[in-house]
Amino acid sequence: MMSEHDNDLEYVKTSRSGDPRPDLHADCGSCFGLCCAALPFAASADFAIDKAAGEPCANLQPYYRCGVHNSLRELGFRGCTVYDCLGAGQQVSRVTFGGQDWRQAPHSAKQMFEVFPIMRQLHELLWYLTEALTFQSARSIHDDLSEALEETERLTRLDPDSILGLDVAAHRAGVNALLLRASELVRSPVLRSQKGAPGRRKPYGRGADLIGAKLRGADLRGANLRGAYLIAADLREADMRMADLIGADLRDTDLRGANLTDSIFLTQAQINSAKGDVRTKLPPGFSRPGHWL
Ligand code: SF4
Repeated sequence: MMSEHDNDLEYVKTSRSGDPRPDLHADCGSCFGLCCAALPFAASADFAIDKAAGEPCANLQPYYRCGVHNSLRELGFRGCTVYDCLGAGQQVSRVTFGGQDWRQAPHSAKQMFEVFPIMRQLHELLWYLTEALTFQSARSIHDDLSEALEETERLTRLDPDSILGLDVAAHRAGVNALLLRASELVRSPVLRSQKGAPGRRKPYGRGADLIGAKLRGADLRGANLRGAYLIAADLREADMRMADLIGADLRDTDLRGANLTDSIFLTQAQINSAKGDVRTKLPPGFSRPGHWL
C-alpha cells in the first residue's frame, strides 16, 4: 500500500526542512512492496477489496510498483494514500533480509511478511522517541529517552527469528510510559498558563469520543488528545499547538486553517487521513497531502 509515494517522493524529500527524522519515512523504491502484500484489508471505504495478510494485492506489479497509483482515491483505495510505514519497509527489505526479494526467493516471503508489522511498530516508537528528544521542556528525561531510542534501534537490527520472538507489547508499554511523561512536561506549562481562563480547558483526555465534534476555532493548546476519536470533527481554525495527538484518529477531520505547528506526536499518516488546506499550519518535516485544497 505504497502511499502518495513514487511520484511525490522527491517533493517529500525536498520539502522536509527541519525534519528531525529523515530516516523514518517510506522509501518505496527500496522496499519489496511489503505493505501491499503483508497486511490484511477488509473491503471498506478505505480499501476496495478484501485481501488476506500475506496475499499480494492484485494491483501490485512486478518490481513492486502499484498499477493504479495515479487513480487510488478514485478507485476506492484511499487508505493506500494515507498509509506510512515510517521506513519499516526498506528496513525489512534491505537490512533484515539483506535485499532478498520475496518473489525471487518465495521461501522467505512468509517470514518477511510476519516481520514487517513488527518492524512497523518499532519504527513508530523510533518516530515518537526521536521527536521527544527534541522537547527542551523534557530535558529531565532525555537520558531515559535516549536509552529507549538506542534499545529500539538495536531491536530493529535483529535477525528475523529474533524479531519474531520479541515481546513488542512489553517494549511498547515501557516506551509509552516515557512518552506520556514527555507529553506532560511539554503540556503542563501551557495548561498552567491557561488556568482561570473560562471555557479554555476542556477535559478531553485520552481516547475521548469527539466524533463529529464542533470545535471550530477552539483553543486546544496543550490538550491531551491521545487516542481521541476526532473522525469528521470540525477543527477549522482550531489552535492545536502543543496538543498531544498520539494515536488520535483524524480520518476526515476538518483541519482547514488549523494550527498544528507545535503539536506533538503527530504522524504523516494522520495528516494524510484528514482534510486541510493551504492555511493549515503543520509541524516541520510534514508534507501537505496532494488531495488537500
Ligand atoms: S492498490 Fe496499489 S498501493 Fe494499494 S495495496 Fe494495492 S498495490 Fe499497494
